[in-house]
Amino acid sequence: MNASGPPARRSLPIRAVDPADARLAPAPVDAPAGPPPAPADGQRGLVDRFGRVATDLRISLIDKCNLRCTYCMPADGMAWLPKSKLMTAAEVRRIVMIGVRDLGVRELRLTGGEPLVRVDLVDIVAGIREDHPELPISLTTNAVGLEKKAEALAAAGLSRINVSLDTLHASTFKELARRDQLDATLDGVAAAHAAGLTPIKINAVLMRGVNDHEAPQLLDWALKRGYELRFIEQMPLDADHGWRKENMVTSAEIRESLAAGGFVLSSDPRERNGAPAERFQVARAESAESIEGTVGIIASVTEPFCTDCRRTRITAEGRIMACLFSRTETDLLDLLRSDASDEDIANRWREAMWGKPRAHGMDHTGLGDEDFVQPDRSMSAIGG
Ligand code: SAM
Repeated sequence: MNASGPPARRSLPIRAVDPADARLAPAPVDAPAGPPPAPADGQRGLVDRFGRVATDLRISLIDKCNLRCTYCMPADGMAWLPKSKLMTAAEVRRIVMIGVRDLGVRELRLTGGEPLVRVDLVDIVAGIREDHPELPISLTTNAVGLEKKAEALAAAGLSRINVSLDTLHASTFKELARRDQLDATLDGVAAAHAAGLTPIKINAVLMRGVNDHEAPQLLDWALKRGYELRFIEQMPLDADHGWRKENMVTSAEIRESLAAGGFVLSSDPRERNGAPAERFQVARAESAESIEGTVGIIASVTEPFCTDCRRTRITAEGRIMACLFSRTETDLLDLLRSDASDEDIANRWREAMWGKPRAHGMDHTGLGDEDFVQPDRSMSAIGG
């Protein structure tokens, strides 16, 4: 760590960079990036070489999941981390404390694997809430089993949830998730709504020939319940490495499908503020003046938003992933389990984020490009 370097720079203004221009820029890749400059007074953030500042922390609590979605996990044969390798509740709490108090984290998402599988989930949320009364804490979950836990999670201080739901048909659910759990998911969402874990966001991944015809139906279902639906373009983060760019359902196709299904989308005038989803206001064609809600599209593949990425991720075994597609990881668990100080941990975290790749684990956007290398980890093992 260079303690006497210049203050954190906001160089290479990448916010407005076109993916094509990004190819012309110098090519700093994953690592090594060298140490970050010492922070100037009042500037303790997780800054990277391109001037981005990570304020949105995603922590995976467990790699295990109770579903086996085809775009994420293999049918079987996934080796789970032993319990001794998972961050404990106290370690998670300490990381969040360092992130919020020392490094400018302003938002927390707990994820997995499936976070509901963690038996101490309610305690984890309660501990973090005790430390940070104002911190927005959300949970990304498949909602299987949430029916029984939603009230306790709300009482513990969880702010809201994101639920993955790709289909409203039991047989398609079984085909996509390789488990017959549609009813459990729907019951979980309803319980979360009743418990006030709102606004509820619904994440849907469309797979060609499987559920891509369901976009309008999913939107109708979400609008009627006051949930915000977000379609996520399928990314090359499946354990089977079966992703092909030419097969994925694009944002443009999703918008076309919604239009064909009778919806009128217009740009949401609200600031995007680093959110991965581009939001649209939604009306029905028969009453186009009346906005019924919003829909989001996370177009990581066809309309990447790396220039404004504000995320920092920590895997269930305590490794920092500066980018979803990083092939370099930085261990924090060894520090957490030594006599390292909070400052040591903060410094390693800053250093890891300083080396964040420009885009998609590379120096340019381009999932599926010839030089793109899919990370070994599946989304479930990173924490989506
Ligand atoms: N088990 C929880 C759930 O189902 O929401 C949390 C973990 S899951 C990995 C988080 C999110 O990642 C889900 O919304 C899922 O749809 C999304 N996801 C997983 N694999 C993906 C892929 N290959 N492309 C796009 N999104 C993916």
